[in-house]
Amino acid sequence: MKLVLATSNKGKLREIKEMCQDEVVAFSELLGDLEIIEDGDTFAANALIKARSIYEKLGEAYIVIADDSGISVPAMGGIPGIYSARYAGENATDKDNLYKLIHALKEKGIKRTPAYYTAAIAIVSKYGEYVVHGWMYGDVIDEARGDKGFGYDPMFIPSGFGATLGELDDEIKKVISHRAKALNQAKPIIKMLKRK
Ligand code: IMP
Repeated sequence: MKLVLATSNKGKLREIKEMCQDEVVAFSELLGDLEIIEDGDTFAANALIKARSIYEKLGEAYIVIADDSGISVPAMGGIPGIYSARYAGENATDKDNLYKLIHALKEKGIKRTPAYYTAAIAIVSKYGEYVVHGWMYGDVIDEARGDKGFGYDPMFIPSGFGATLGELDDEIKKVISHRAKALNQAKPIIKMLKRK
């Protein structure tokens, strides 16, 4: 069975492809551009919505995996959370979202505060549906530093480190990230499904 990724987010695609030893294809290579309405109220619900809609189009020969992720800042009521991708509006870029969150911290006079990333990975195949999670804890700061990673990475300092994910080597994020942790949980499930 072929493994297909239900995401068109370039940052996620790059990271998941690098972290998966398996051959993974982006859904857009098979189906072209598709708009999927993510109207769930949790990361898990949205990951399932994405994986199911691609699986329904591709059929039983495929295992579809989808990542829904985002960053939450408890001191700001958990924002942007599940709205991370569209925090600065429906067609917002990663930069728009990053600077909107920096601006929101500045407005509250917060220079640095705890935050965490969540990744939910849904796996849909003819043998059933699974959802796993991974988290990465740290702090957000009121400025962008470095240009590695994507999204909110330039303002996020992972716990135990003295630099943002924008400054740290990609190899570090590959090991400590919410996505890496969720993928580690997903891998044995994918392996089991492939063996069936
Ligand atoms: P989704 O594609 O609806 O799951 O939205 C994910 C959004 O969350 C991205 O567009 C980023 O804004 C943010 N995000 C998720 N994971 C990361 C990450 O690893 N680094 C930076 N931002 C992330």
